[in-house]
Amino acid sequence: MLQSLGADTVQVRTRQDLNLVDALVMPGGESTTMSHLLSTSQLFDPIAERIKDAMPVFGTCAGMILLAKSIADGRLDQRFYGAIDIDIQRNAYGRQVESFETDLDVEGLESPFHAMFIRAPQVVRVGADVEVLSMHEDKVVLARQGSVMVASFHPELTSDSRIHSLFLQEV
Ligand code: GLN
Repeated sequence: MLQSLGADTVQVRTRQDLNLVDALVMPGGESTTMSHLLSTSQLFDPIAERIKDAMPVFGTCAGMILLAKSIADGRLDQRFYGAIDIDIQRNAYGRQVESFETDLDVEGLESPFHAMFIRAPQVVRVGADVEVLSMHEDKVVLARQGSVMVASFHPELTSDSRIHSLFLQEV
């Protein structure tokens, strides 16, 4: 998706890879496993440093969980960055079979964005300094604070690159 918008991309697996990038996407997946792998690969702290230095980061789904201030229903040893002032409840939309698709109105986009929610987390608290970019029913599903943007859905799973484009404007 980022390449289709003209960005050069690499997969970040080591500190050396991290040194190459101006911005980072933390993708979906399983946030407990991602937390574990970030620790064992010794990438957790270098990424925390870069986030502190205002590197733009976009967290989708599990990536959003990793960027939040607090996590309900996480593992006790799960680490996270506290980079955006939101609290998260993991798996709050239900199990895999409760995954769903819906059209969202998004701040700055002229027409709705078709979004896929897969065992998605819910934002249960939003700090005053967080800019809300989209809501689904009464829940925030796309938000931004400074250089950190988060989505509880998967914008990479459609052919619509407008949300990635919003992120690249920060880079
Ligand atoms: N439920 C997953 C977690 O807690 C997130 C799911 C996803 O990224 N699609 O990490």
